[in-house]
Amino acid sequence: MAVLKVLTYPDPFLKKNAQEVTVFNQELKELAADMADTMYDQSGLGLAAPQVGQGLRLFVADLTYRPNDPEHPRNWIAYVNPMIKKGEGEQFLEEGCLSVPEYRAEIKRFQNITIEYNDLEGNLKKVTAEGLFAVCIQHEMDHLAGKLFIDYLPPLKRKMIQKRLKKLAEE
Ligand SMILES: [Zn+2]
Repeated sequence: MAVLKVLTYPDPFLKKNAQEVTVFNQELKELAADMADTMYDQSGLGLAAPQVGQGLRLFVADLTYRPNDPEHPRNWIAYVNPMIKKGEGEQFLEEGCLSVPEYRAEIKRFQNITIEYNDLEGNLKKVTAEGLFAVCIQHEMDHLAGKLFIDYLPPLKRKMIQKRLKKLAEE
């Protein structure tokens, strides 16, 4: 178990497409556990493998996590090779990202989604999510396609934020 280094914008690795996971071995389980440690360490709700420099279609999430309650049980789940099967409705929630420090924005997402994914053993699973859970899944799945939430912002606003983030990264 270990806390990993989280890559931040403008690290070029964050723009890469992640690869399908084909081998469900101990290494994959350890990576997922380390990603969960990293997510809790940084008080995140989700974390995708590309954010820790691993180009795999894998993310972890725990929507029950309460950063202010260290005694709260950890209920993280690993989602491997997730695919959106259905998306309906729309919602705007404020999003943040461990790879985009100090910035949050409201992004348009599906209200309800159904995804299929593999668990860490390779079993096929299906889950339907709504509200914040649905947003979290869509946000993490974007990371697997090399996309960040700031990519949805209008060009002018996005450029301003990118400039500020680049400055921040140089400090
Ligand atoms: Zn993110």
